[in-house]
Amino acid sequence: MTHLPDTTLSQAIPVRATTRRTSLRCLASIGFAALLSPSSASAQSAPDPASYPSVLSYRTVRVADGVYAFITPEERTGFQSGNSIAIIGDDGVLVFDTGNIPGLTRRQIAEIRKLTDKPVRYVVNSHWHPDHNLGNSIYRAEFPGVRIVGTSATRAGILERVPTYFGQMKGFAQTDSLMKLRLSTGRMRDGSRMPDDVRQLWTLVVKDYADFMPEVLQAKPSPPDLISDDSLTIFLGTRRVKVMSPGRGNTAGDSYIYLPDERVLLTGDLVTVPGPFPSTSYFADWIRDLDELKALHASVIVPGHGDVQHDYAYIDMVRELLTFTRERAREAVLRGVPLDSLQKQIDFEPFIKRFTNGDVVRTDAFKSFYPVPAVMRAYEEASYEIQGAIPKPGD
Ligand SMILES: [Zn+2]
Repeated sequence: MTHLPDTTLSQAIPVRATTRRTSLRCLASIGFAALLSPSSASAQSAPDPASYPSVLSYRTVRVADGVYAFITPEERTGFQSGNSIAIIGDDGVLVFDTGNIPGLTRRQIAEIRKLTDKPVRYVVNSHWHPDHNLGNSIYRAEFPGVRIVGTSATRAGILERVPTYFGQMKGFAQTDSLMKLRLSTGRMRDGSRMPDDVRQLWTLVVKDYADFMPEVLQAKPSPPDLISDDSLTIFLGTRRVKVMSPGRGNTAGDSYIYLPDERVLLTGDLVTVPGPFPSTSYFADWIRDLDELKALHASVIVPGHGDVQHDYAYIDMVRELLTFTRERAREAVLRGVPLDSLQKQIDFEPFIKRFTNGDVVRTDAFKSFYPVPAVMRAYEEASYEIQGAIPKPGD
């Protein structure tokens, strides 16, 4: 399990509370680490928490004829669902990813039923992280006979690792209480006045957690029953849906979907906004996977989190960041530089500026989700590679 350096936390809450930060970075990274450092209270304008859409909301975007993306709010505190996409064919529907907020999944199913009278025949899971598959059981209940497709790594992850997720979510209650206490006093742990941006960001974290928890506790893990570890083409009548499983990447076995006739690409968490979620990833494979996505020359790209994209500029930036991280980690391992030294030395600031454009919530999310787990994973991977071994799955 990873946690942030103690120095970023000591001003606000007891360090032991932060060990509750989940290892499942994408799905429960608590977006508050950077803002616990008073230095983060910079010239950036403080956000109004009320201006952010609820984590219980989503927007529907029609990305091609019969293809609807349910876009959830951009990942900011970790208490959020991934995007889901419905592909409507002549004789049935395929849904890519099912979220982790039952009320949201049910509303999306109701919307699909308004769009078509055809049943959902297939669900495809992009990977095992629960923010992409805890809705599986709802689809099974609503559409008897639905087949749920995923890689063997996705099935194993849902069976073996997702059950710990609920405990991790509950475990945040202690930090939530401390944040509420500090908010009520307007003071940091050392008695100093709480900076405005910290107050606004913590307000958002507390609100998201309050909205999210009652929902997620109703969810039931349910794994794929149809395993595809390479490629699978599904015909929904005349519509072609290619389910591609390139192997390791963001997790030990990711899947993405490509619609060759519409040139629509659904990436799962191989691509996420506001930054990559690397705690269970494999950098070398992930970079290769992004090259595979680029070779498709898609005209519409729906990431696992974040808005619809229409070119490869963001994917190029992600590839550059992953490559930078991997190269610095390999150099450090080859030179015998310890991991904690590398964590201190590596400079992500230029990337942080490019990924966040100075937005304070995005900056906090990026700093929470990426640098520490990314360096740890890349260093671990480089250590194995240099010994000629295959890295173990991330914690
Ligand atoms: Zn995700």
